[in-house]
Amino acid sequence: MTYSQPSIVNGRTDVVSVTPWLAPVVWEGTFSATLLDGIYQRQNISVAATVFAVGKYIMFLKDFLETAEQHFFVGFRVHIYVFTDRPNEVPEVKMGAGREVTVQSVPSSNRWQEISARRMELIQKLIEERLINKVNYIFCLDVDSKFHGRWGAESLGGLVSVIHPGYYKDDRSKFPYERRPTSRAFVAPADGDFYYCGGAFGGLVQEVHLLAKTCRKNFEDDAKDGIEAAWQEESHLNRYMWINKPSKVLSPEYLWQDFKPKEPEIKIIRFSGVIKNYAAIRPN
Ligand code: UDP
Ligand code: MN
Repeated sequence: MTYSQPSIVNGRTDVVSVTPWLAPVVWEGTFSATLLDGIYQRQNISVAATVFAVGKYIMFLKDFLETAEQHFFVGFRVHIYVFTDRPNEVPEVKMGAGREVTVQSVPSSNRWQEISARRMELIQKLIEERLINKVNYIFCLDVDSKFHGRWGAESLGGLVSVIHPGYYKDDRSKFPYERRPTSRAFVAPADGDFYYCGGAFGGLVQEVHLLAKTCRKNFEDDAKDGIEAAWQEESHLNRYMWINKPSKVLSPEYLWQDFKPKEPEIKIIRFSGVIKNYAAIRPN
């Protein structure tokens, strides 16, 4: 395996590539793809991904799957689980060797908040019923997005979270965390590390299982008290990541938004949310 000599004094100076709890922050220029692919290929790892396409969001699935074939863990065993209420409308996408898609039916819903929030429950169950002790890693991704660049072994870790592209230069007091202390997603104004995306997270299946189970329970217990967190499961995820620090943090390269102008520190956009007309695609 040949790769350039690592330097201990020269590297990216425009971004922070390690958190205060010493987790790597993955940016272009901080890793060798060749080296990482070599390390993880030798371990013959497998990666699952979940994606929800409920109601009109089925329209995003084709581009998501086709671009995942081009960029997401190319050369690895990948199994994508599609959750949808429209299984007949799932597009035929030709998958490479060792890669497959499984479609799982889920109920429709009249509220996007519920669709979004029920993901944690379904991820928890998927891991319990099909993945535990069978698959190494899992990523849970929004469907209204496309891959534009490599997303591979550099993203692997125990508990992995992506920095939200909308707030990464802001003071923590401005993050859209749930601010009501009565919610189980509450984060106080002086707390919080980063604002993370609900649209992409992952890690070892055991770790993601615990995350999904905890967020689901907190969401449901809140609901019993008549409270819904500001950004549903994203709020619960942020609370979880504040208490349980992620062991790897992915830079906003890993979930950009197409409507956002590119910033100088973003050398590559790997995965990005498409521009969408909320009124036209959401059920409410
Ligand atoms: N979703 C869905 N159908 C809906 C609403 C949401 O399948 O009617 C799923 C879909 O996977 C989507 C995710 O929930 O990517 C999060 O919702 P959305 O992308 O609208 O949230 P945003 O990224 O705009 O905050
Ligand atoms: Mn989205």
